[in-house]
Amino acid sequence: MTERKLPDYGDVAAAAERIANYAHRTPVMTSRTVNADFGAEVYFKCENFQRMGAFKFRGAMNALLQFTPEQRAAGVVAFSSGNHAQAVALAAKLLSIPATIIMPLDAPAAKVAATKGYGGRVVTYDRYTEDREQIGRELAQKEGLTLIPPYDHPQVIAGQGTAAKELIEDVGPLDALFVCLGGGGLLSGSALAARHLSPRCAIYGVEPEAGNDGQQSLRSGQIVHIETPKTIADGAQTQHLGHYTFPIIQHTVEDILTVSDDELIAAMTFFAERMKMVVEPTGCLGFAAARARKSSLRGKKVGVIISGGNVDIHRYARFLAGERES
Ligand SMILES: *Cc1c(COP(=O)(O)O)cnc(C)c1O
Repeated sequence: MTERKLPDYGDVAAAAERIANYAHRTPVMTSRTVNADFGAEVYFKCENFQRMGAFKFRGAMNALLQFTPEQRAAGVVAFSSGNHAQAVALAAKLLSIPATIIMPLDAPAAKVAATKGYGGRVVTYDRYTEDREQIGRELAQKEGLTLIPPYDHPQVIAGQGTAAKELIEDVGPLDALFVCLGGGGLLSGSALAARHLSPRCAIYGVEPEAGNDGQQSLRSGQIVHIETPKTIADGAQTQHLGHYTFPIIQHTVEDILTVSDDELIAAMTFFAERMKMVVEPTGCLGFAAARARKSSLRGKKVGVIISGGNVDIHRYARFLAGERES
C-alpha cells in the first residue's frame, strides 16, 4: 500500500488563504424559533450561498490553485453529475484552465447545461455499462489531464474544511457540530478545523438512512461499500468513504447519525418557511439530525453546516407540496 500523507489543520489554514479572493465568506444565520425550540444556541453556516451553490467550490478551487503551469495548460478532468462538476467547471473557468467533466448520459439536462455554461467540456458515459473512474483515468492519461476526485483528495479535503473554520472564527468554540456526509470530504475537512479551533466540540457526520455506509464503516473500523442508496439526498448517494477521508473521520468524529427522507423534507420545509432559504435535500442532513436529538443539545452551542442549495425548482416545489418521488 502506498503511504498517504493525511491533510492537517495547517492545510486547512493554507487553503483558506489561497481561496480567500475567490470563495464567498458565507453568512452564519440564526433562528429564534430554532433556539427556542432547542433551548440552545444554533448557528447555521450557509454554504447554499457559496459560489455555484455549494461548499464544493472551496475544495475545487484549492486544488486547482495548486496546479503547476503544465497542469494548467493541459487541463483538469472530474467525474460527477452534481455539485463537484459545477465546482470544478467554475474554478477552472476562473483560472482559465480547460475542464472536462464526465457525466452520465442520463444526467439532468439542467446540470449538463450549468456545467457547459461554466465553459466545461462534457463527456458522457453509460452508467449501467461503463465505469466512470476508468474513463476518467484513461482520458487523464491520454490527454495529460489532472483528475480531481470529489472527496478523496488532500487538497479537496483541506478546501472543504475552510467553511467550518470560518464558522468557528465567527461564533467562537462550539459544543457540537453537525455535518452532511457523502464521501466525507466536508466532514473530514470540518473535523480538522474543529479539532484545532474548538477541541472540545463533538463532531457528528450525518447520512441518509438508506445509505449508512459511513456509520457502518465507523462501527466496523473499515471502509464498508454499499449499493447506490435510494434517497432524495442526491449529494450523499456515495457508496463508500475514501482512503483519506475515513482515517480522519475515524480519529475525530464522535458518531455518524442517519436521518430519513421524511426528516429531510421536514427540515427543507422549515428552512423555506421560517428562514426563507432554499436548501437542497442533502444540505438538510445536519439540521435534520440535530433536530431529532435536540433534547441532548439543551444549553449548548451548536453548529450546523448547510452544505448546498442546488435543487431543480420543480422538484423542490413537489417536495414542499408533500409529493413523494417514485
Ligand atoms: C457533495 C455534497 C455533500 C457530501 O460531501 P462529501 O464531501 O462527499 O461528504 C453534501 N452536501 C452537498 C450539497 C454536496 O454537494
